[in-house]
Amino acid sequence: MKRMLSILLACVLMISVVACSGKGSSSSTSSVGSAAGSSTQTGKKPVIGVAIFDYSNNYVTYIRNSIKVLAGNKADIQMVDAQNDQVKQVEQIDLLLSKGVDALCVNAVDPKAASTIISKAKAAHVPLIFFNRSLSSDDMKSYDKCWYVGTTPEDSGRMQAEMAMKVFKADPSFDKNGDGVLQYVILKGTLGHPDAEARTQAVKETFAKAGFKTELLDLQPGDFKTQTAKDITDVWMGKFGNKIEMILANNDAMLLGAIEAGKAEGFFGGGKKMGAIGINALPEILPSIKDGTIIGSILSDAYSEGLNIFTMAYNVATGKDVYQGVEIAPDNMKAIRVPYIPITKENLNVAQDMYNKILKQ
Ligand code: CA
Repeated sequence: MKRMLSILLACVLMISVVACSGKGSSSSTSSVGSAAGSSTQTGKKPVIGVAIFDYSNNYVTYIRNSIKVLAGNKADIQMVDAQNDQVKQVEQIDLLLSKGVDALCVNAVDPKAASTIISKAKAAHVPLIFFNRSLSSDDMKSYDKCWYVGTTPEDSGRMQAEMAMKVFKADPSFDKNGDGVLQYVILKGTLGHPDAEARTQAVKETFAKAGFKTELLDLQPGDFKTQTAKDITDVWMGKFGNKIEMILANNDAMLLGAIEAGKAEGFFGGGKKMGAIGINALPEILPSIKDGTIIGSILSDAYSEGLNIFTMAYNVATGKDVYQGVEIAPDNMKAIRVPYIPITKENLNVAQDMYNKILKQ
């Protein structure tokens, strides 16, 4: 599946390059330059600009694939990579607007730059769908044709803590020292990153609210990265070793590093017990859930995010009501919040089906 995804990604990149070079098919070049909203009148394919913060981000890659797959031949998707550079992203947005896109989807590098992006789109009368990186309520209110698609990050931390409590109560072997207290560690994402802060805080709050007894042995920022998390876990193995009853990671990339470090010490398949739960339910972590190496993960539904982004962008680009066909009700800041889904061995197919949809449609 990984290989298929790579092939698909390669195709997507090629399509993007062709589309952005201005040497695309006659249908795509002819529709560029049409004024906003004109697609319905002319019957041409709507042109949808998609500005991505960084193509190297795993999760956003699944959202991009989902958008491209869903667009098919219905829309001309012009996708650009800001390579984590906000200045570059604003230039790319200027270019997309000057080409006359019918709608613009933006995965902002820095949500603080949203007001600049909004004023540019507003001046060009182009509807905006922000996604994946949330912006302030004031920014959202400043433009009536501005919407957001994302998640509620604290939900993933809450679900992770709930999963931890459930298995700890159901299986006494997780309480290795038999003291009725969960000794655990947290691999936190980048300090100050909204997801890292929200997820970590939600884990602690969920334990506290439930009156669940825990002892946080250590918390270290692993920057959402596999290697950094592996290095941290190597140190933990020497410092705490078998005292650790559970590892909670803010994302699966870090958990993959922790598993690697733990395996070297006989955990995660080597006979010694240690619980672990991630967030994202990436394809790379699913085999470890399937064979019982780890407890589970919390699925970020990239397909559903892509579906809502594309549906809303296509709607506004073709003059329809933005929420037509959107199954999730918007909140009070015009945001569609896609729910997370806890994934364990029992419902692994839910995650597998989601990735299959991104590949097959
Ligand atoms: Ca214990």
